[in-house]
Amino acid sequence: MILDNKQLEKFITYERKSAWGNNIDASMEYAEGYKRFIAKAKTERECVREALSYAKEKGFVDLNDKIASGEKINPGDKLYYVHQHKCIVMFIMGTNHLTQGMNITAAHIDAPRLDLKAVPFYEEAGLSLLKTHYYGGIKKYQWTAMPLAMHGVIFTKDGKRLDIAIGENDDDPCFFISELLIHLSSEQLSKKASVAVTGEQLNVIVGNIPIDDEEIKQKVKFSTLKLLYEKYGITEKDFLSAEIEIVPAIKPRDIGFDRSMIVAYGHDDRVCSYAAFSALCDIDHPERTCACILCDKEEIGSVGSTGLNGLFFENIVSELINLTSDEYSELALKRTLANSYVLSMDVGCVLDPSYSDVFEKLNTAIAGDGVILEKYCGSRGKYDSNDANSEYLYKLCKLFNDNNVIFQTGELGKIDAGGGGTVAYMLAKYGALTVDLGVGVLSMHAPCELISKADLYSAYNASKVFYNIEK
Ligand code: MN
Ligand code: MN
Repeated sequence: MILDNKQLEKFITYERKSAWGNNIDASMEYAEGYKRFIAKAKTERECVREALSYAKEKGFVDLNDKIASGEKINPGDKLYYVHQHKCIVMFIMGTNHLTQGMNITAAHIDAPRLDLKAVPFYEEAGLSLLKTHYYGGIKKYQWTAMPLAMHGVIFTKDGKRLDIAIGENDDDPCFFISELLIHLSSEQLSKKASVAVTGEQLNVIVGNIPIDDEEIKQKVKFSTLKLLYEKYGITEKDFLSAEIEIVPAIKPRDIGFDRSMIVAYGHDDRVCSYAAFSALCDIDHPERTCACILCDKEEIGSVGSTGLNGLFFENIVSELINLTSDEYSELALKRTLANSYVLSMDVGCVLDPSYSDVFEKLNTAIAGDGVILEKYCGSRGKYDSNDANSEYLYKLCKLFNDNNVIFQTGELGKIDAGGGGTVAYMLAKYGALTVDLGVGVLSMHAPCELISKADLYSAYNASKVFYNIEK
């Protein structure tokens, strides 16, 4: 067949394609489930709780029970493992031996926020306030002058654990960090944005009514503490061991006349987390064992017991091998991990038309053109990036094309404009083929972030076909 130039152009050139196409209804419908999830999952602990209840409904059972009983695991088994209330791993056992490798998705469920300090309470200028220490990469000036909610866990003196979420219901009180009035801001406005508001100025206002008692010195602080004691049985000392996170008291909302986008707190990286685990829950009887890791601490370097730089995932896979017909050995563990395929699922950036000078347009993803496949991220010449290989990229491109998954490539902005990392290299270190894939976000790390519903649905479809990828 002889092609004319127009036909030939279509064949030999690459162009991004909108992910909306025939997917409008499906994208809208899928987004409703995500909105329900993200409205309730505003901390890593709450993400675990919500993902767990979703998985349990789909028939997943606790791997810990199998570990305790020593009962063997069989193909088709659906298992979950919760690590320290802040990570969850879900597995669907395949018919293949584990040592032939798994299909693993990894996303993170922590998000930038403000944490309360250990001794947070003080009183000044007729107000009761709380000191915070920010978590993750934030523009500090963005966290002032809006309603805030308080989430977390606190143990009372007698060991009773309280899970707190105040500020989410319409009749809940909220909290507030003041912003300097414009009328007195001439000095502040001449400062660099990075120091215009400092970390020590992110103090949360929580009360104003003083106790009517001359004997008490700090009258407003006392009233606040008294209220907490009477209502929850909490004392100031209990905050020494508490984990309380201050987050925007904002519900997910549709954006656009066409309702095509969602604004919410914490899309990074709960949007990929949701796509990854909801897709896993829709898989049945895979050949290769499928795993979905939702981990903590990515925003501060994946450190600690619940970060992916730690060993929790490796430990769980060891338990899994021990409970299959394979004999556990270090070699079996190494083979299982090295033969695995990994999607490091984390959000990417899309071209922001109002700040287009920091992007290189040819290689920046576009909102609505599908999930982003990122060969590398990092900074200063791909430093700290995973830089996936061509064989694996080809395999995934083919997989997505064969299954009508609309995807695009992307980079994190112009060379040397900044940069960022993901958990990709932490699983790649085992020798596993690994690449970054994720939903594009506008206003990443701002208190409210924006995504396209088409990109979310594309991430779900990409995860789903990935779980069925064969050797
Ligand atoms: Mn992220
Ligand atoms: Mn992030």
